[in-house]
Amino acid sequence: MTDKVYETMKNIVGKRYASDNFFEFINNTIDAYPYELDLDREKLPYVVVKPQNEEEISEIFKFANKENIPIYPRGSGTGLTGAARSPEKGIILSTSRINFINIDTDYGYFECGPGVTVNSVDMALAKQGFFLPVYPGSKIVASMGGMMAGNTSGHIIDACIGKPADYVLGLKVVLPTGEILETGSKALRKPSGTDLTKFFVGNDALTGVVTRIRMRLVPAMQKSFGIAYFEEAQSVAKAVVRMYREKVPAPLFMEFMDKASTKVGFEHAELPVPPGCSIFFASLGSSKSEASDNAQRLLDVLTKENPIRAEEIKELEEWMKIWTAREIIIASLMQKHNGQFTGPEIVSALPNLVDCIKELENYGEKDPIFENIPVYLFGHIGALTFHPTSILPKDWDNDKKRRLVEAEFEIETEMNLKFGTCGGEWGQFGKRTEFFRQRYGEKGYDLVRQVKKVFDPNNILCRGVLEGL
Ligand SMILES: Cc1cc2nc3c(=O)[nH]c(=O)nc-3n(C[C@H](O)[C@H](O)[C@H](O)COP(=O)(O)OP(=O)(O)OC[C@H]3O[C@@H](n4cnc5c(N)ncnc54)[C@H](O)[C@@H]3O)c2cc1C
Repeated sequence: MTDKVYETMKNIVGKRYASDNFFEFINNTIDAYPYELDLDREKLPYVVVKPQNEEEISEIFKFANKENIPIYPRGSGTGLTGAARSPEKGIILSTSRINFINIDTDYGYFECGPGVTVNSVDMALAKQGFFLPVYPGSKIVASMGGMMAGNTSGHIIDACIGKPADYVLGLKVVLPTGEILETGSKALRKPSGTDLTKFFVGNDALTGVVTRIRMRLVPAMQKSFGIAYFEEAQSVAKAVVRMYREKVPAPLFMEFMDKASTKVGFEHAELPVPPGCSIFFASLGSSKSEASDNAQRLLDVLTKENPIRAEEIKELEEWMKIWTAREIIIASLMQKHNGQFTGPEIVSALPNLVDCIKELENYGEKDPIFENIPVYLFGHIGALTFHPTSILPKDWDNDKKRRLVEAEFEIETEMNLKFGTCGGEWGQFGKRTEFFRQRYGEKGYDLVRQVKKVFDPNNILCRGVLEGL
């Protein structure tokens, strides 16, 4: 079978873009989450293909349906739930060659291929005075296709500008049966009611492969920045609850780092280490004075919870340094502890935020495996989201590392059921299937299975991911 698959793929995409090279396999079958550290050679793919358009992808799917071979779409492989891995032997379909960006100011939208990085789109838009309403921490590497599959806001606060899906006007998609579908609108009004786009944005790659993304152009807004330092993490949580209760406009970004993360991040960014934990934000406005007013209102609210210090950040350069301290925190921690990072996503409902952060402060006590492992707490607190993060010791064997990661997903499930929901950063299935089943019940899970079957009767696309890893 291996030869047949490889030969067929070569015929479809050309020899150069069908690879059976071992290094390409490894490169395209693991993602950023550090479990299953021993590669199962039996499950390595038949081939990694890099098609250039929908027609080639359609042919690949038609062949896969005939031969009953699963297909796993692949963006940049930065996903953290295992969804970009291939639990069964199959074809890895890389979108890396579909990487165009067209900005159409006449229509008021841009279109891009799924393989282009979030950062490239962001930069291209910024040059023309527009702004991309998507910001995962991995934006320099992560692809627009991966972002569509997760409908992930990343650092952006949903309550400020919504989810990426709110800006998607339409898509081109190859269905798992090989048919090509266009959805949505070229107008600036998104279709209401039954809009097929909804089946593919945030689809966890279960219903089709997105090959063209059309999003509304958003004029860049003005920003004003602020920062506060607190002795207690719980006071930060109280301040955020206050922000929502006192109707202060939610900022675009609002990040939190506990004392230990603040120290590591600020040191690494060559900033003076402040006292306590930190919370910093970027408020938006259509004019500089509106942005500044919004930032001041937010600082006033933070001040009510008795920070050590709360102040406006006047210079963009200073903001960029502080932002960098947060952006590089994972890399800084990995460097400091010389190992691979790992951590879940905990999302709280507003009334539970203080209790949630209190429990997260004792996260390491939830399982004996965390004994002697420092846990750093940071996250998008404006979106009520936290990432308690630890570094896997290099001298642990793979079995022990795997046990810690398993414990994390169990804690994630338990805490998200208790405090809020899974925000779905990185996706809802793969390692999170268990959460989904508990949160939405067997009926909810079964409905997803049935929806998938409608789109993918032979279960070709991402076989095994919905079932859980
Ligand atoms: C350091 C770091 C920071 C991160 N920060 C964030 C963050 O702030 N917020 C956040 O949400 N995530 C974050 N992530 C996780 C990850 O980067 C995002 O989920 C990202 O959107 C995945 O994009 P990708 O191109 O790497 O996708 P991949 O990992 O390649 O794939 C992810 C999923 O998308 C599917 N997929 C890819 N392309 C397509 C397509 N064209 N059509 C259909 N399905 C497709 C894959 O099959 C898979 O199921 C972070 C990861 C790292 C390593």
